[in-house]
Amino acid sequence: MSAEASVLIDQHISTSSILSGIKNPALVMSLSGKVARINHRCRQFLPNIQEGELLGDFCEESGVFGSLRQMIHHARSVSGLHPCRLQAKGLRGEGSWLGFFSVLSSKLTHKPVAVLLEVDDHKVERENRLLALDQDVDKQLSALRHYHRDGIHDPLTGLKNRRYMDSFLKMECDLIKRQSTGGTLVVVDIDHFKRINDIFGHNAGDEVIKVVASRLQNRLRDSDVACRWGGEEFVIFLHNTCGHRAFSTCEELRTLIQQHAVAYQSHKMDVTASFGITSLLTNDSPDSVFARADKALYQAKSMGRNQVQVDT
Ligand code: GH3
Ligand code: MG
Ligand code: MG
Repeated sequence: MSAEASVLIDQHISTSSILSGIKNPALVMSLSGKVARINHRCRQFLPNIQEGELLGDFCEESGVFGSLRQMIHHARSVSGLHPCRLQAKGLRGEGSWLGFFSVLSSKLTHKPVAVLLEVDDHKVERENRLLALDQDVDKQLSALRHYHRDGIHDPLTGLKNRRYMDSFLKMECDLIKRQSTGGTLVVVDIDHFKRINDIFGHNAGDEVIKVVASRLQNRLRDSDVACRWGGEEFVIFLHNTCGHRAFSTCEELRTLIQQHAVAYQSHKMDVTASFGITSLLTNDSPDSVFARADKALYQAKSMGRNQVQVDT
């Protein structure tokens, strides 16, 4: 893209204010796949990339969309945030980053003019970022803010929500058919949670959900995704991890939950959780892989709780 084309995008949307409100590595890409604007974090992340160059020369998209071109096509026609996996050219597996993209429409014509691509860095403090976004009055930003606040995150825990996990699992099921990355689906359910509510109250229960969520999230890698599926249940996708490695990761997570009681006001609450896990298979759909993990969870519950069971 020539510098003029970036300027053209800037006539329709304020790329600099959009990017300055985002703490994740993020870039704005033209509908022809060229990098129009990069934020500071993205420069640290992809040091060689320059504005005006084709993003496809540096990394490829490998989700449901298969290619950056298909991703752009999709972003033009469907609104909202869409998960994707970016892979540095020439690297496999661990060289991939999780991200999401959305279309940016012109404030003048309301037609798509660019794609916003963010690398999902879990270590980013989302609240600060939302505050930063709050300070901007641009209409485009208020639309984005809506997506970020309500579209893909669970408000209580800050984890991804079920809607995000649904489209993410679709992406991973498609991905495993074309590449041998794979992964493990984990369903986590807090044990006897109803008792916690009954004894200590609903607010104490909420605190337990939050603490469990952060214990899970803190142990996971950036390439894994954790969501709050609903109530006291969580669903996790461990990217590029199967078998013994997945099992021992879940054992660690289980121990982290059990290790320290959760404090709330003057109470100390002992908390445990049960885990059902299964590897993603090449012919899986989101429903089939989920049903196996759920079956394993049921086994963990019926065998006494506070344990990890693998679907066989
Ligand atoms: P099990 O070990 O078999 O999983 O037993 P459980 O008590 O954890 O399971 P059950 O499904 O019987 O109870 C879950 C309870 O979680 C019931 C519901 O009132 C409560 N709950 C659901 N969502 C929330 C929430 O957001 N906050 C709080 N505090 N409680 C919730
Ligand atoms: Mg439950
Ligand atoms: Mg439960």
